[in-house]
Amino acid sequence: MGKECPRCGRIRLKEPIETNSISSEDKKTYICSDCGINETRILFYLAKSMDEKIPDDQKEMSKKFREMLGLV
Ligand SMILES: [Zn+2]
Repeated sequence: MGKECPRCGRIRLKEPIETNSISSEDKKTYICSDCGINETRILFYLAKSMDEKIPDDQKEMSKKFREMLGLV
């Protein structure tokens, strides 16, 4: 039995651990595929948003993601 997803705490991660999604936040935390999809969606939204609409704690993540998408 795998351990619980650290993001939602509901879904258990698959074994082996490498078959799960990896968090775009730190690039090393494994999360379930549902969370992986959600995270991508949120990050994409953040990347398209104007900076002033983004909460302070998410600005850094948004900036990184925009760089990844080549939007900067
Ligand atoms: Zn999850």
